[in-house]
This record gives sequence, C-alpha cells and structure tokens, in this order.
Amino acid sequence: MEIDIYEEEQKIYDEAAARVLEIKNGAHFDFAEYAKLTKEYGGILKQLRRITRITDRTARGLHENNLDLTDKVHYDALTGIYNRRFMEDNLKRIIKTLSRSAGSELSVLMMDIDFFKKYNDTYGHSEGDICLKAIAETITECLLRPDDFVARYGGEEFVVILPNTDESGARVMANKILANIQAKNIPHEKNEVASCVTTSIGITTSEVKRGQEGSAYIKRADEALYVSKQNGRNRYTFIELKGEEV
Ligand code: GH3
Ligand code: MG
Ligand code: MG
Repeated sequence: MEIDIYEEEQKIYDEAAARVLEIKNGAHFDFAEYAKLTKEYGGILKQLRRITRITDRTARGLHENNLDLTDKVHYDALTGIYNRRFMEDNLKRIIKTLSRSAGSELSVLMMDIDFFKKYNDTYGHSEGDICLKAIAETITECLLRPDDFVARYGGEEFVVILPNTDESGARVMANKILANIQAKNIPHEKNEVASCVTTSIGITTSEVKRGQEGSAYIKRADEALYVSKQNGRNRYTFIELKGEEV
C-alpha cells in the first residue's frame, strides 16, 4: 500500500490541533502538557518520514526487479531477440487482431541454418554462438515494419512473423534475408552448398480467419522449410496454408 506523506502529515496536524483545542478549552490549560505533546508529535512525524523513505526505496527496487524479470521472460538470453514463448503468445494476439478486419494477410517464415552441426564441429561451440548472434542481428536488420518481428524458435531455428504481408511481400523478405546473410560472408568451409554460412527458409501465407491457430502457420512454414532443405538448401520454399484453416 502506498503512503501519502502529505495526507499522513495533515492527519497528525489535525489530530494535534484538536488535542490542543481540547486542552485550551478545558478547565486547566497546562502549557507544560501542551509543549510535551507538540514534541511528541514532532518525533512521530520524523519517524513517519523515515518509514516513507524506506518504503519508497523498496517499491522502486521491486519495480526495477519486475522490469528485469519481464525482459528475461520475453527474450532469448544468447541472441537478445524474442524467445519462442513470446512469439507464440504474440502470434495469438496478432491473429486475433488481424481476424477483425476482413482480408488481412499474415505470413510466417521458418528459418534454419544450413549444416550448423558441422559449423560447431569445425569452429567450436562458442564460435557457433557468435554465428547465431550474427544471424539474429542480420534478420533483425532486414525487418523494417514496426509490427514485423523475429524470434529464436529453437537451437539454430528462427521464426519471422510478418503481419499484413501477402505472398509476394513474404517472398521479397525471404530473398532479402537469404541475400543479407550470405553477404555477411561468415566462413563455413564444411557448408556443402556455399563457402559461407547460409540458411534455408519455409514460408506460408494466409488471409487470417477468426479462431485460426498460430501453430497451423508454424507447422506449414516448417513443412516448406523441409522442402528447401531437400531441394539443396540456401533457398526458400512457399507453401499455401490452405487445408490448415479453421
Ligand atoms: P541442416 O542443414 O539439415 O539444418 O543441418 P544442421 O547440421 O544445421 O542440422 P541439425 O538440426 O542436425 O543441427 C543443428 C545444430 O545446431 C546442432 C547443435 O549443435 C547446434 N546448436 C543448437 N543450438 C545451439 C546453440 O545455442 N549454440 C551453438 N553453438 N550451437 C547450437
Ligand atoms: Mg535445425
Ligand atoms: Mg540446421
């Protein structure tokens, strides 16, 4: 409970005034008694201020801790981008919002680094971590609209959510992400499809319907990603969501 120091002070003054009046109007006004009471009230006031200061400090500390915890709940510790849990919650909210206006489209991209196990085996796990951070950063740089976002889905898998984006927009984004990752030119001598780190992408797009599940988009994008892996990696594949719709 928050203490209003001014309100509390006023209460004490009012109480003191009432008490003084009581004494003054009484049969025997005793100045010594009056002085003693005033001193006592002064002491109480001082104590009250000290308690308020401590309470304020504690409340501020708790607030800061809460902000810190919120960060930990939403973000991936290694890359600093959103984590899977936040992505799933946010996707649910996005679907709800988009389903209210007819014709709104949503695109989802599922991404996976090519031959990343070999990258770790060749350069070591901590270089692998650095590579993951660079990929997360590159994807983030590609997203220009405020509602677009990327999340780390699993070890070396990323999900990109593009609200109000149709198939052709999603294809443009996928091309841009693939090109920018390749342009980073992170050496990967064991990558069987290029000499640097590359990624594969699966895309799905649909007009958002009420009650649709976010997981249907993820599942379809994952299927499209699998096709990209089968067809030689470092590419994207588009599959419509149709059939998965509620
Ligand atoms: P593909 O092209 O088929 O995707 O091959 P891949 O080797 O990338 O696929 P696979 O899923 O077999 O390997 C993923 C690897 O990602 C395995 C694991 O060592 C690595 N990995 C997962 N999470 C992390 C992480 O946090 N840091 C590092 N350094 N490596 C990770
Ligand atoms: Mg993988
Ligand atoms: Mg992989």
